[in-house]
Amino acid sequence: MYAEVIVDISNEKLDKVFEYSIPSTLEGMLQIGMEVMVPFGRGNRETNGYIIGFRSSPEFTPDRIKPVLSIREGSRSVSSRLVALAAWMKEYYGGTMIQALKTVLPIKKKEKLLERRRVRLLLDEEEGQRKLDFYLGKNQRARARLLAGLLEQPEQEYDLITKKLNVSSAVIHALREQGVLEIDIEHIFRNPVKYQVREKKNISCTEEQQAAVDCFCMDYEKKHYGTYLLYGVTGSGKTEVYMEMIQYVVSKGRQAIVLIPEIALTYQTVLRFYGRFGDRVSILNSRLSPGERSDQMERVERGEVDVMIGPRSALFTPFSDLGLIVIDEEHETTYKSEQVPRFHARETAEERARMEGASVVLGSATPSLEAFYRCRTGKYTLLALTKRAADQKLAAVYTVDMREELKKGNRSILSDRLRRLMKERLAKGQQMMLFLNRRGYAGFVSCRSCGYVVKCPHCDVSLSAHRNGRLVCHYCGYEEQVIRKCPSCGSSYIGGFKAGTQAVEELIKREFPQASVLRMDMDTTKTKDGHERILSAFANGEADILVGTQMIVKGHDFPNVTLVGVLAADLSLYGDDYRAGERTFELLTQAAGRAGRGKQKGEAVIQTYSPEHYSVVMAARQDYEGFYEEEMHYRKLMGYPPVSELLAVLAGGGDEELLEKAVRYLKEFAVRADKSGKLQVIGPASPHVGKVNDVYRRVLYLKSEDYSTLTAVKNHMEQYIEMNQGFQTLKIQFDFNPMNIF
Ligand code: ADP
Ligand code: ZN
Ligand code: ZN
Repeated sequence: MYAEVIVDISNEKLDKVFEYSIPSTLEGMLQIGMEVMVPFGRGNRETNGYIIGFRSSPEFTPDRIKPVLSIREGSRSVSSRLVALAAWMKEYYGGTMIQALKTVLPIKKKEKLLERRRVRLLLDEEEGQRKLDFYLGKNQRARARLLAGLLEQPEQEYDLITKKLNVSSAVIHALREQGVLEIDIEHIFRNPVKYQVREKKNISCTEEQQAAVDCFCMDYEKKHYGTYLLYGVTGSGKTEVYMEMIQYVVSKGRQAIVLIPEIALTYQTVLRFYGRFGDRVSILNSRLSPGERSDQMERVERGEVDVMIGPRSALFTPFSDLGLIVIDEEHETTYKSEQVPRFHARETAEERARMEGASVVLGSATPSLEAFYRCRTGKYTLLALTKRAADQKLAAVYTVDMREELKKGNRSILSDRLRRLMKERLAKGQQMMLFLNRRGYAGFVSCRSCGYVVKCPHCDVSLSAHRNGRLVCHYCGYEEQVIRKCPSCGSSYIGGFKAGTQAVEELIKREFPQASVLRMDMDTTKTKDGHERILSAFANGEADILVGTQMIVKGHDFPNVTLVGVLAADLSLYGDDYRAGERTFELLTQAAGRAGRGKQKGEAVIQTYSPEHYSVVMAARQDYEGFYEEEMHYRKLMGYPPVSELLAVLAGGGDEELLEKAVRYLKEFAVRADKSGKLQVIGPASPHVGKVNDVYRRVLYLKSEDYSTLTAVKNHMEQYIEMNQGFQTLKIQFDFNPMNIF
């Protein structure tokens, strides 16, 4: 056996793997991730490295291979655990080891620390006065000015001195040479949390909250680490529960990671954690500078941080004794990486927790089917919060059938009911949100008179209108002619839905000239703090109406909002995606959950062309379990996750003919490589966008009941692709249980 070792993990490129032989004294003792000592370079300098894999035959001539020297003492370091996690990710999600390592290891390239320099006078009053006379006698004015200033105030900030006393650095250094002063350098870490919390709200848990916390802590006490799903209705106080659990884990001397979708990582949220844990909290987000980011890692390594809050990538925070990973809003699609390895934070968190002896807490008002399914099968422990924390009622939800509005002659984007309620709110000075559901909108075609949607006869997902004028299924490749008349009712009001947030904003301003309107979408949040700015303006009551895309429904708490309107609930329903029903239920429920979080009761209006669809019906009832049963029925019938496992094989290349041929070979190969006899291969189909930047794309879908069947086939395919010249110009990626289809 030979060990594959990376020698320098602080090297950002990480693209060199070295082979070492395993001496008989170490046989059977080495594991992936272990830190070992190896001879390196011409002089055989003893260096540490990490084992990232094994192979039975070496790539190089055996006699030139050097042996591993020893296992490094205390080898179970953070880095070695992260290397082992990377190896798991490579196996579980595909891609190369290098890609996996780059994902998990913190960037070691040290940014320069910020320095604070202070100038300190070394002389006493008398000596100082004598020296001052000396400088004055010699007419050395700048030196005299500096010394006089220091005699007045013996310790000062370097940068202030140069300005205030108008002296150059040369003068300061000259006096230092003469032993008059000293320059003290203090290294400071940039702290991205830029505010201080003075008052601390003391909240005592509700009975339900306490029960959830107790269950977690009792297991933890017994070292029964596991995964919990905190399923709590909107406004039930999940964050309080997380903080209690974190407090408990931190009191054991261990650390916690809190994953929050980037969009919800606002001032409001961070402040709550900061209020509880002070500056033992750190955050990571994409807006941090490289310097701020590297400082946070430095603080972590020095043990100055107990709680790290951040989006998906914060999962790899190199804590030395990680005790808990919280994933808030676990149903969010952003927890799935879009880069190789295409990992899901939920599964990867579970694996990291397993390696570290830690627990995972997932939280959501609308859990992913995956998470709830695992509660049903006993893999996760369910913790439920059924009531809002301050006992507010959930909003009353009305569904409006837009087909009826059309029959009444109302062709506006606002139903009569929504318009009436909006007027009422404006009169009362209460706030409202209008949510334009554009998620997953991929050009599906529907009838505005009867709600009929054109679907694939084989896959039960909607067909998409392509530019070439045909309707296409993105799973199996089925195509048909565009239709001009509704096959169900004969109406010619059939086509794609096209209103954007800007159009809605303009319409609202025309209809309600007295109202002030804010808009939040991709366009208005482009700038660095764009979304934060709009949210806080709205929270401060600077506008009556907030119009936006799904961005506005995520986890924000506006107590004065008493009305939520959902325009076009259907757009996400018929995205041509097997998760469309789940997305729709989630968005509608979360949207309704924004209303009535303060003292006044809230109302929500859902406008739809398909009021009878179970996602809409159950969201209006805010009945998650009802939805779950219906959706699982569909997933079982069609063999979609979480009942079955799905692997998308994405292929891209500049030569369409070659691509087509290669993908067909790959399909045949997959069928042959499968030993279980239970693998199903679908496609190849063209993704949504069949060609990007002159790169053509194709996708294959592999289905099986067992994940391990898919990883086995994936491993065979990876070898097959590497060995065959024909694939060299193509880019092939694997995506397990994709969040959307391509
Ligand atoms: P969720 O994340 O479940 O939607 P939050 O954690 O944002 O809910 O809590 C909603 C509101 O309820 C927050 O303003 C929070 O301060 C408040 N809250 C939470 N727990 C309690 C409690 N035990 N008593 C009073 N208010 C609470
Ligand atoms: Zn129709
Ligand atoms: Zn199809």
